Amino acid sequence: MEHFEKLLSENHEQLIFCSNKESGLKAIIAIHNTSLGPALGGTRMLNYSSTDAAIEDALRLAKGMTYKAAIAGLNFGGGSAIIIGDANTDKSELLFRTFGKYIEGLAGRFITAEDVGTTVRDMEFVRMETKYVTGISKSIGGSGDPAPVTAYGVYIGMKACAKEKWGNDLLRGRKIAIQGAGHVSRFLVEYLYNEGAELFVGDIKESKTRKILEFVKAEIVDPDEIYDLNVDIFSPNALGAVLNDDTINRLNADIVAGAANNQLADEEKHGKMLMDKGILYAPDYVINSGGLINVANELEGYRQDRAMKHAESIFEIVSKVIKLSQEAEIPTNIASRKLAESRLEKIGRISNIYSGKSEFAGRLGELTKK
Ligand code: NAD
Repeated sequence: MEHFEKLLSENHEQLIFCSNKESGLKAIIAIHNTSLGPALGGTRMLNYSSTDAAIEDALRLAKGMTYKAAIAGLNFGGGSAIIIGDANTDKSELLFRTFGKYIEGLAGRFITAEDVGTTVRDMEFVRMETKYVTGISKSIGGSGDPAPVTAYGVYIGMKACAKEKWGNDLLRGRKIAIQGAGHVSRFLVEYLYNEGAELFVGDIKESKTRKILEFVKAEIVDPDEIYDLNVDIFSPNALGAVLNDDTINRLNADIVAGAANNQLADEEKHGKMLMDKGILYAPDYVINSGGLINVANELEGYRQDRAMKHAESIFEIVSKVIKLSQEAEIPTNIASRKLAESRLEKIGRISNIYSGKSEFAGRLGELTKK
């Protein structure tokens, strides 16, 4: 599809190419929607098979961020950035500072943070050139690792699902399968264990599962067999596309609730398949929005207690999603999309109200027309 057609078809606002010979920077910034506030989204550094593939990814990620911020009740829009290159060999101070100059040039329309292939350290170079970056280290006033707040949000979201399924939000005695023993799981298991849940953890790396056992008691399971366990909750915290034709048929759980991004291999088909099987699915971008809530908080002067408090709202949001899904008899992933779109439309309308800040520029334009 031609670029402008592609932008129009999904209502993207802006696509920016940044190129600089001295630093070797080749970057793409996509801004999907700023009706709620400045676009916020990570910077990914990857080698793509083609520029078109990078554009496709940037647009997809930016749109996803619009929905995530909208449903989390944040006043941010959706954006994303891609630096085309090898994250192991092509990084330099010059590269990230040059990228920072381009972000600065957008004057706050886009705020970025670390993502796949970039680190807190890289963002600190970006920070030398612009204040429109978040997710920097605690030592220089940032919020540091978002995983504790993400994990807390997932825990709270699981409780909202439990309340719906079993009439109360207690997880004591519940069997919970945790796929992936990484950053988020390390904090998630502590909340669950402290409440008395029985845990089953599977990771492809033994070193990771061993680490989990330093914090909690859990049964270590074969990562290939985790879908077949007879449990109450299946919690994907590793990869995307883990909910597909094969795995949904194997699942033996009442609830799916975890932090991994893009869990449904096919949004329409697999959301419906879960509903038809009577499995309550907590949409990934709703339940994992603690990470976004955390970096958004940093922009107002970071306080973890405030970020945690904000993440508690995930309970109410998940409950709303479930309610709409039941009333309209639609899968939860479709219900959350509708709720996000409704907020974008309603709150977005405020930006059309003249607040006296735009001076004369637009008005003079109108006068000359007459
Ligand atoms: P991580 O890289 O620290 O952990 C992922 C773990 O999954 C690793 O230990 C890896 O070995 C394991 N893994 C990979 N393939 C696996 C497989 N097939 N079976 C079992 N385990 C496998 O990542 P993380 O920061 O814990 O994030 C987990 C997920 O949550 C990711 O999808 C991430 O995009 C998403 N997420 C994270 C945050 C955050 O704050 N870190 C926020 C929102 C969403």
